[in-house]
Amino acid sequence: MIQLLFGDRKAWPDYEAPLTRALSASGLGVAVGTEAAPETVDYIVTSPDGWITDFAPYCRAKAVFNLWAGVEEITGNSTLTQPLVRMVEPGLREGMVEWVTGHVLRHHLGLDRYIKRTVPHWDYAAPPLARNRTVGILGLGELGAASAQALAGLGFHVIGWSRTKKDISGVETHGGPTGLDAVLGASDIVVLLLPATPSTENTLDAPAFSRMRKGVVVLNPGRGTLIDDDALLGALETGQVAHATLDVFREEPLPPAHPFWAHPHVTITPHVASATRPGTASEAIAENIRRGESGQAFLGLVDRGAGY
Ligand code: NAP
Repeated sequence: MIQLLFGDRKAWPDYEAPLTRALSASGLGVAVGTEAAPETVDYIVTSPDGWITDFAPYCRAKAVFNLWAGVEEITGNSTLTQPLVRMVEPGLREGMVEWVTGHVLRHHLGLDRYIKRTVPHWDYAAPPLARNRTVGILGLGELGAASAQALAGLGFHVIGWSRTKKDISGVETHGGPTGLDAVLGASDIVVLLLPATPSTENTLDAPAFSRMRKGVVVLNPGRGTLIDDDALLGALETGQVAHATLDVFREEPLPPAHPFWAHPHVTITPHVASATRPGTASEAIAENIRRGESGQAFLGLVDRGAGY
């Protein structure tokens, strides 16, 4: 029997039924529960809300599956020597595509002018077309690439940037350190879908904002560390950035005194851009155990050197 230890008691009630179902359907013979003697454990599920902080006693474990796509809270754990796998699953991907598309369309169509209208005002102007709007996506991984393709499908001119250059149908892609400026300088709306690593910290700082188009809109469903908060406030002040829609922050929940809360050109969503869905995530975990047992590479294997 393969032993899977589920190391997040808060999430367990949501996962118990779908995970038991997915493991049973896999036919692999996996026992799952929130308790097991460490030396008997073959695979571990963990999360930032999980209780396992010392992975050393799990000497037999072949992998640690993180329930979140972002792994910055766990990559620094020196006791974790087993392969670390981040969450890659369709529910997480679809949720992010919907959040990104919705917020891009809000700004593209200028919906606020109608939603915020308080007096009768027949404010006619022909709506713009997506083909005339450039959306830049920083990070073309699981979530960035899917968001880029969805926006391109709606007709937007989509350009994207990643560490290694990608080939995505309908999307203009740039790679490596020199690619960032090409995307920043051409985009009307910039979406951040990079991971939090030392090399992505303050990707949008004061010099980066100054290289962007005047009146650019910034959407950050990635991580708070990608933006220098003071530089963003400065860029909002001058109108260099017209609006920022932020889902993630350096400190969460965002402290009540933070200037973002009261800023008229900042929209805050409380880290809801996307969530791991127990049904589809359970199937992803079962698939990764199947891969582990047959010697195949795990889907979402983290490169510990790169930090994501
Ligand atoms: P991923 O598949 O690992 O993709 C990350 C992308 O960022 C890749 O394209 C990668 O380039 C690129 N990248 C990394 N470091 C870079 C650098 N220094 N310069 C340029 N590009 C760099 O991750 P994902 O699954 O798409 O998730 C992205 C992030 O979204 C997660 O790390 C997490 O922080 C965030 N997230 C947020 C929510 C939410 O609810 N707000 C939910 C889920 C995830 P390569 O392709 O060349 O490797």
